[in-house]
Amino acid sequence: MLRTRATLWQPCSPSTTSGFLCQPSLWKRQQSNRGRLQAAPAIAPPTEEVAVAQTDATDILSDVSFPKPVTPSTRAPLARSRPRTQQEVEDSDDPVRFPSTWEHRAWVWGTLTLLSATAALGLAKVDDWSDGFATAVTLVAGYYLADFLTGIYHWSVDNYGDGSTPVVGEQIAAFQGHHKEPWTITEREFCNNVHKVFKPALSFAGLLLVASPWLPGWLQVGLAVTTGLTCMSQQFHAWAHMKGSQLPASVIALQEAGVLVSRKAHGAHHTAPFEGNYCIVSGAWNPVLDNSGFFRQLEKLVHARTGVAPRCWEPADSPLFKR
Ligand SMILES: [Zn+2]
Ligand SMILES: [Zn+2]
Repeated sequence: MLRTRATLWQPCSPSTTSGFLCQPSLWKRQQSNRGRLQAAPAIAPPTEEVAVAQTDATDILSDVSFPKPVTPSTRAPLARSRPRTQQEVEDSDDPVRFPSTWEHRAWVWGTLTLLSATAALGLAKVDDWSDGFATAVTLVAGYYLADFLTGIYHWSVDNYGDGSTPVVGEQIAAFQGHHKEPWTITEREFCNNVHKVFKPALSFAGLLLVASPWLPGWLQVGLAVTTGLTCMSQQFHAWAHMKGSQLPASVIALQEAGVLVSRKAHGAHHTAPFEGNYCIVSGAWNPVLDNSGFFRQLEKLVHARTGVAPRCWEPADSPLFKR
């Protein structure tokens, strides 16, 4: 089979770091986390998937920097040269290595505000049983649609392009780098983790709100919730990388009920060449898409039209998947 390696897939260039501004809220969270971690039971050693994943691909972290010790204490600065193991992360006094910035928060809360306004205006239009039923059906459909959309999106950024790709390069670098250093997602504060998905959704959320006077209420609600769930999938993804001791009981319950993608279900994705289990809301679509060969057919179609082969056609021991 002809395999064409696009120049876009060359490894990303090393990133740089910038200074870190310590925030009072971060200090409080660090203290809180310290107590929690000290009280936590012993944690099992890193799994094989984690052991595979040390890397120089800290490109995904190019927009964040490493915290200096917040006091001139005995705490040693975190090393930039060697990524930590998951065990080290969970044992650390500084589990939050990548705090949110005000820019991250602006993208996330700006988009969420627009989507919430659209959903609220839509709900205000629902004034009879038929509209209520249509809204309920749309919400369920939107939940499953969001899972499907995350699968398509995740598949595309895992397999095509790199950090230099226009518009979505930042997201591509983040997803591809995540395979090499998967546990860093657990070290990110909420807005730091999800802003790369909320950022491109802001324009759509704005258009949705502007168009809302011309939309039926049930459709407004459905579109707003589907968009929100699709963006939030990056947080569901982070939860799927955390151990039970790091998660609220409510999240564990939702994962165990299959409402949110579980650690075990998402763990099936993290084996080179990363060719399946792409959906990260509930993961309900994963068996359907993987067993039907949906993505392989899509890849053949892309290859036939463009000559570009996906990264997952590489052998599992390809240098592309090594750190
Ligand atoms: Zn992936
Ligand atoms: Zn993952």
